[in-house]
Amino acid sequence: AEFRALGLAPWLAEQARQVGLLRPTPVQAACIPAVLQGRDCLGCAQTGSGKTAAFVLPVLHVLAQDPYGIFCLVLTPTRELAYQIAEQFRVLGKPLGLKDCVVVGGLDMVSQALALARRPHVVVATPGRLADHLRSSSTFSLSKVQFLVLDEADRLLEQGSADFSADLELILAAVPARRQTLLFSATLTGTLCQLRALAANSPFCWEA
Ligand code: AMP
Repeated sequence: AEFRALGLAPWLAEQARQVGLLRPTPVQAACIPAVLQGRDCLGCAQTGSGKTAAFVLPVLHVLAQDPYGIFCLVLTPTRELAYQIAEQFRVLGKPLGLKDCVVVGGLDMVSQALALARRPHVVVATPGRLADHLRSSSTFSLSKVQFLVLDEADRLLEQGSADFSADLELILAAVPARRQTLLFSATLTGTLCQLRALAANSPFCWEA
């Protein structure tokens, strides 16, 4: 019921309850209403704070209304995080028959390209591998992306070789300028300025 009070659809609040999310955590209580209002979001949140559901739930709420093309792209620094995020989308999006696709290094490029071509609703990717796909194949399009999520943005930047900027630029050029950007990071200071600028549309900024 408390998730409903944040503006989430009843089926989604019920699904959250069923999988053990009973009450919103602080980052969820703060960010979910802002995302549902269509705002960009800058959340300062550690792993364990419930930050994943803070973006998965409102994205699913909007996706349920009009799922079209690859709807949401999540960038995250590691394979492990990518699988965890995809799992939360799958579990919470089960009533929708949500299709997701994990795009990370270490797996076969061809089968990943085929999975991307099947138009998943959600793609969870590490930037390097997704950029490899953008360079090498035209089997998929990111032109319908409505939500871009940068998870653990500070760690995304740490991986920061010169390549990272090139990869990110390629990805940003492939998603629409008109979209919602949700950025989560353990810290919102320092080098993050570069990424913060991506979430500039009436940004809702949350720090504990
Ligand atoms: P995260 O910070 O996204 O890595 O989430 C850490 C863990 O907290 C995950 O295993 C979630 O399933 C769990 N979790 C997230 N939101 C809630 C909630 N509202 N109530 C209980 N557990 C939660």
